[in-house]
Amino acid sequence: MIEVVNVWKVYRVGKVEYPALRGVTMSVEKGEFLCIVGPSGSGKSSLINILGAMDRPTKGEVIFEKVPLSKLSDDKLAELRNRRMGFVFQTINLLNHLTVLENVELPMMVLGIPPKKRRERAIEVLSRFLPESTFYKKPLEISGGEQQRVAIARALANNPDVILADEPTGNLDSANAQQVAKIFRELRDEGRTIIMVTHNLELTNYADRVVRLRDGQIVEVVKK
Ligand code: ADP
Ligand code: MG
Repeated sequence: MIEVVNVWKVYRVGKVEYPALRGVTMSVEKGEFLCIVGPSGSGKSSLINILGAMDRPTKGEVIFEKVPLSKLSDDKLAELRNRRMGFVFQTINLLNHLTVLENVELPMMVLGIPPKKRRERAIEVLSRFLPESTFYKKPLEISGGEQQRVAIARALANNPDVILADEPTGNLDSANAQQVAKIFRELRDEGRTIIMVTHNLELTNYADRVVRLRDGQIVEVVKK
């Protein structure tokens, strides 16, 4: 589904260059749950951002369903992202002045979905993960684990084919972390493609494949 071919990512700070990815070649199969692991600074975030079309490589190509992303304008790339991908982050970044429901509706507003439909869809996805009593609360009135499940519902709002999560359990206790991994496994069972960066090796048991990075290169691929 996604192919990465000899991808380099070089950050420039003044005159200094930091090569965060150094010739990464890999592919993500449709419907698989892929974990990316590796020490801090090994390039995990750089790679997942490129896989999710949030960033472009310095060198090399990313191919999404046979389309080379270098051929797409920034607008087309944003459209691909909004329609096909859902993102979950370590810093949960819900908007605190909006209710839980309104947070889940936001990505649908971006696509111009009418209010009634937005509300119905938000209730439908949230109901999978949270009790109705949380829907009209503000994010800070619910627990961290509940907030991350709201963020997963938000990522699902536009019914994406690919879910990308960068250390989504980094701020959670182990019970909530397991729950998040279980949810991703369920989403994979319904045919979605899951890409998750994690430090928590226990969670890699939920994945189909684990890619290990070190110093911007893939050093190991393990099939589960
Ligand atoms: P990880 O997610 O595995 O910790 P990152 O992809 O965030 O790794 O970073 C890989 C390397 O690139 C690190 O050395 C980091 O300091 C550097 N880096 C990441 N983002 C930037 C940036 N915006 N500017 C400069 N260097 C960066
Ligand atoms: Mg990172």
